[in-house]
Amino acid sequence: MSILNPNATPARTRRLDGRRAYEVSDGIFAIRGLKTGRSYIFEEAGALTLIDTSTGHVADRILEAIAEIGHRPEDLRTIVATHYHHDHTGNVAALVERTGATFCVHADDVPYVDGREPWMPLKPPFGFMERFGTEEYSLPVERTLHDGDVIESADDLRVLHAPGHTPGHIALHSARRSVLFAGDALMNTLGLRLPLSMASHDMDEAKQSARRLAELEYDVALPGHGNPILSEASVKIAEWVQAWG
Ligand SMILES: [Zn+2]
Ligand SMILES: [Zn+2]
Repeated sequence: MSILNPNATPARTRRLDGRRAYEVSDGIFAIRGLKTGRSYIFEEAGALTLIDTSTGHVADRILEAIAEIGHRPEDLRTIVATHYHHDHTGNVAALVERTGATFCVHADDVPYVDGREPWMPLKPPFGFMERFGTEEYSLPVERTLHDGDVIESADDLRVLHAPGHTPGHIALHSARRSVLFAGDALMNTLGLRLPLSMASHDMDEAKQSARRLAELEYDVALPGHGNPILSEASVKIAEWVQAWG
């Protein structure tokens, strides 16, 4: 990265070819090489918002991604978890400590995050795998979210309550950039699919939420698991919903 190196990669290309971060849409980055569960960075006016954090012990990798796109840890102002599951909140504590970011969760998932409610164990036949095989932990929630709220560090990022997978599951919609952060309301692992019923609180509600997300307009959809959908995402999701709905 020396400026003396005539073959040095220009900043823009370095962003796209980064080892940890790649730009999936204007100012929106997916992070590579985490564990279970995806994590995305939303950049607006020099401030960063992180959507989900993957499974624990990879906070360093998320900070590497932030550095790669030219930011300091303190530029991370907000961490939003789409829901309480450990593959979305696993690195929250470490990242809040190292960045000072505000941690936000929907009101209906706050009791699971802050330790007042036990996590839902996997349903039969997987119920023997206690709570996804991870130690339960609790996290202080600094800001409680509700449907229609806007994230302060990203004024085009609107909260959509999309319950079912968990009671307080949310998606986030950026109308200006035409992007949906879907969390686990829908997955794109070997094609579009609903969240796993064995790990979901209420599948009827989850189906309603998927239908609601299909009614919005967005080019790009970024699921909590599986590959980003980078074009005509809301059309593809509406077709998928029609196939089962
Ligand atoms: Zn998940
Ligand atoms: Zn989940």
